[in-house]
Amino acid sequence: MSRSFTYSSLILRVRPSGESNRDVWFLTAEEGIIRATSFGGPKSKLRAHISPFHTGTLWVYYNPVKDSRKVTDFDVHSWRPGIRERYERMISASSLVETILATQGGGGNWDTALALANSTLDALADADETHCTRIMVHFLWGWALFLGIAPELEHCAACACPPASDGLLWFSKRDGVLLCSNCARNHDAAAICPGARRWLAAVENLPSAQLVRYTLDAQALSQARFMTTHLLAGALGRWLSSWGAV
Ligand SMILES: [Zn+2]
Repeated sequence: MSRSFTYSSLILRVRPSGESNRDVWFLTAEEGIIRATSFGGPKSKLRAHISPFHTGTLWVYYNPVKDSRKVTDFDVHSWRPGIRERYERMISASSLVETILATQGGGGNWDTALALANSTLDALADADETHCTRIMVHFLWGWALFLGIAPELEHCAACACPPASDGLLWFSKRDGVLLCSNCARNHDAAAICPGARRWLAAVENLPSAQLVRYTLDAQALSQARFMTTHLLAGALGRWLSSWGAV
């Protein structure tokens, strides 16, 4: 009755379970998020291999009677030790994990989700402090696009007009869209400058490692961060505490 399965996977979260076992949450290219139990004491080989932010091939034994999964092996392809070396990298990587778990892996097209998460973690593994925020905003924007909730960047969502001469559009937190100054009047809306919108458009399909090629000033970064986090909060119906620390 039992069956074995192989996955391309990223370890999102590891929690102790009982005496020496651990529950592990994986993002897989094949089935999205799955949870499996890893058995074995501190000396087992799997102990070191199974840790958050590791990417690799996962072998799982599925017991359909108990509807439970057991990790039989995990072959690490990317260890990313650099993430644990700096606080900002850890905070950003934890925020990525929390976002993926909260949105249940994105709900389809999981190999794209996995590729985006892996590319983000690779970039974070040797990023400096300022760069961590950019990498996370890039991830959150990619995730919003992936979930189909990213707004049109160069037109008002209500009247379709382009931005006025000051170049500003206004982000409505309630509706998750950009509006012109006229249409934004009755909204709780925040200005999003052309620099922030141009950057988001430019880096949309870019691997995280190439973000250094595009400049972004502090104000534009802060606005891009505001918009991406509130977009996802609107879709989820709640704010993730880790976004506050990004
Ligand atoms: Zn308008």
